[in-house]
Amino acid sequence: MTLKISISGVRGITGASLTDEVISDFSKAFAAYIKKGAVIVGRDPRPSGEKIKDIVISGLNSSGINVIYLGVCPTPTVQLMVKELKADGGMIITASHNPGQWNGLKFVRKDGIFLNKEEAERLIEIYRKRSFIASNKKGSLKVQDKPLAPHIKKVHGCIDVNSIRKNKFKVVLDSCNGAGSEITLMLLKELGCDVIELYTDPGKPFPHDPEPIPENLNALCEKVKGSGADIGFAQDADADRLAVVTEKGIAPGEEYTLAIAVQHILSKNKSGGQKVVTNLSTSMMVDDIAKKYGAKVVRTRIGEVNVAEEMVKQKALIGGEGNGGVMYPKVGYARDSLIGIGLILEALSSSGKSISSVLEGLPKYFIVKKKVDCPSKAEADSLINKVRSKFSNERLDLTEGVKIIYSNAWVHIRASNTEPVVRVIAEAESRNKALELISKVIGS
Ligand code: MG
Repeated sequence: MTLKISISGVRGITGASLTDEVISDFSKAFAAYIKKGAVIVGRDPRPSGEKIKDIVISGLNSSGINVIYLGVCPTPTVQLMVKELKADGGMIITASHNPGQWNGLKFVRKDGIFLNKEEAERLIEIYRKRSFIASNKKGSLKVQDKPLAPHIKKVHGCIDVNSIRKNKFKVVLDSCNGAGSEITLMLLKELGCDVIELYTDPGKPFPHDPEPIPENLNALCEKVKGSGADIGFAQDADADRLAVVTEKGIAPGEEYTLAIAVQHILSKNKSGGQKVVTNLSTSMMVDDIAKKYGAKVVRTRIGEVNVAEEMVKQKALIGGEGNGGVMYPKVGYARDSLIGIGLILEALSSSGKSISSVLEGLPKYFIVKKKVDCPSKAEADSLINKVRSKFSNERLDLTEGVKIIYSNAWVHIRASNTEPVVRVIAEAESRNKALELISKVIGS
C-alpha cells in the first residue's frame, strides 16, 4: 500500500508496491505521453535500479521510443542531458532521499523540467487507462559515453574556477554512496580541492538515511572537524539536495544551502530588481537577504516544477527550495547539488571567509516542522479551512493551504502531496516562538 503516485512521480517499496508491472506500465504510459522520439534514462545506485532500468528501457523501446541510457548519475544530470541532447523527455529511476528499499520514477519534459500538475495528471490517466502505443517498430538503445562531462562543464562555466583552485579547499564529501559520488569527486578535484571521501562508493549500501538533514550527518560532522577540513558537503541519493557542514563540525541545517547561494549571487549582481523564486515553506532568510540587495522574492506552491516554471516566467536570477535544492538557470531549472557546491566554494573564495563566518552573517531563525495524520482529503480540507477562518484577520497567503505571515515569523499549513498528512511548518526568531505558532494552528 506504499505506492505513491503524485506530481513528484512514482515511489514505492521495490518488489512490493513498486512491482515490475507498475514500472513497465508507467514506462509505456510515458512513451504514449511523449508519442515519439528519444528519452534519456538515468538512475541512482540502489541495487534494484539495475533491473528496473531494463524494464524501463524495454517499456519505452517496445513503444517505438529511442533510449539514451546514462547509467548511474544525479537527477539534475539527466535533466540537463535531456536539453543537451535535444531529447523529447527523460526518466529517472530514483527514490531520492527515501531509504534503500524504496525506488521510483521521475518524469522530465523536453525543456529539462519535471512534468507539472496537469501534465502529471495526463500521464497518470494514460497509465490508469492503459492507453499505450501499439508500435510495430522497436526503438533503439544507445549507452552514452562520458555522460557526466557536460554537467561539470556547465557548472565550471558559471563559477570562477581559477580563484577557487587557488584556495586548495580541503573538503569532506558524503554522497551517501549515492548518484552524486562519482561526478562530485570529479568536480571537486577539478576545482583543486583536497577531497576526503566519506561515503562515495555507489557500489555500497547507503550508510545512513539519505536525507541530508542534521541528524543524518553525524559522521560527516566528526570527519570535517577531525580532519581539519574547510567544509563538508552532503547530498541525498540522487544528488539534487545539498547540505553543508562547517569547519567546526556543525551541521546548520539544509535551509542554509539556498540562503548562502542566494546571498552570494545577489552580492555579485547588485543592480537591484533581481528576482529570486522559492516555495512557500522556505526560510525567510531568503527574504531578508533579497531585501538587502533590492531583489524581489516570489513564492510558489511546493514542488520543484512549480519553482522552476515560476523562475522561467520571472526570468529569475536564482531560486530553489529550502530543503537544500539550489536552482541556477545558467545550468538549468533543476535542483542541483553540483552548482550548489560550486557557488558555495566561490562564496568562500571571493569573500575569504570561513563557512562559519559566512553563516554568522546570515539572519538567524528557527524552523519547526510537524505532521498531523489526516487519512482523508476531506479531513485535511476541514482542518485547513478552520485555520483560515480563525486567522482571517491576519496577513494570509492562500497560494497553497494557508500561510499566516507575521512581521518576523510565519506558519504554513498544507495537505501533503505524497502522504496522508497535513504539514505544519513555522519559522520564528526562537524555537519556542515557532513551537507556539504551531500549537496555535493545530490547536485551532
Ligand atoms: Mg533527491
